[in-house]
Amino acid sequence: MHLARLWRPLGKSEDSAPTNVQCRLCSHFCNIAPDHTGICGVRKNINGKLFTLVFDKVAAANLDPVEKKPLYHFLPGTNTFSFGTVGCNLSCSFCQNYSLSTTPRLTGCITGQLTKPEHIIELALESGAESIAYTYSEPTIFFELMAETAALAIKHGLKNIMVSNGFQSPECLAELKDLIHACNIDLKAASESFYHTICGAHIRPVLQNLKTIRNMGWWLEVTTLVIPEENDNKKELTTIARFINDELGSDTPWHISRFYPTYKMQNHFPTPLETLEQAADIGKKAGLHYVYIGNVQGHNGRDTHCPECGHTVIPRKGYTAAKGDYSTCPTCKAKIAGIWSTHDSR
Ligand code: SF4
Repeated sequence: MHLARLWRPLGKSEDSAPTNVQCRLCSHFCNIAPDHTGICGVRKNINGKLFTLVFDKVAAANLDPVEKKPLYHFLPGTNTFSFGTVGCNLSCSFCQNYSLSTTPRLTGCITGQLTKPEHIIELALESGAESIAYTYSEPTIFFELMAETAALAIKHGLKNIMVSNGFQSPECLAELKDLIHACNIDLKAASESFYHTICGAHIRPVLQNLKTIRNMGWWLEVTTLVIPEENDNKKELTTIARFINDELGSDTPWHISRFYPTYKMQNHFPTPLETLEQAADIGKKAGLHYVYIGNVQGHNGRDTHCPECGHTVIPRKGYTAAKGDYSTCPTCKAKIAGIWSTHDSR
């Protein structure tokens, strides 16, 4: 157990009994009574102080291609040492990692292997990765472990990637500002009702955080999982595409991902290919330069095309791409947005 950051005591008790605390790590801002945890199940009020239960417990770790995050315009063809803990601050009915994300909330168990930031760095360096990715569950809820590991990673010449639902508090993002180099953030829908009913969250902080991240200068890519009958109508997809284009910029890659039945959404069909292709058209019509179709085997929607002449600049097979500098189109010399070498990044 490790004393948490970003919380405050709520009031003073008259008989010096422990007080409630407010966690200020994500936009739930949980009010947590003594001996209770917040919504994520991994931050606990013990005697009036907030502790993180996942600082030293890594539940999943792998060496992944950076394309799997997905990041298509950040050091393509390199590997990223990826890890996550149990727990999540959202409760999406379609969660693809529900065994990791729901365990603390449903069972109270904090599973994982004992570790510390120094050991994670050693493993990452041994693996030949060029970056560390905070991923799998929701990195916001293991903020202290992420922040400490990321600071050490920078000292060792590694980049830091966050794969997130984007529901941080403003304070949390401010703390991470100088530590993270690239991120993929979900924009799960365009409506508050989707976020509220299906994910147990709110859309407004996510939209605000996306704009903040754009201004902070991290390399940003956005993912939307398109779920039949939930967020697949033209109006909703157009709203998402226009938000990305108008507020985040036309060079922001948009990953449109195929849904497969899972967790509490076993009764939905996989997303038809036609819907995904329609969504990609919507993205391009909104002005986006880089729109990708993901989670579909053998589909060429993963390739990067030059926004000026249409030349295939980065062909991808599955999650693999050749390492290289793709900053300009070899045919028309137009600029291709992205971070192509570790020297380009902050
Ligand atoms: S991280 Fe979010 S969900 Fe977890 S305790 Fe803090 S405010 Fe609540």
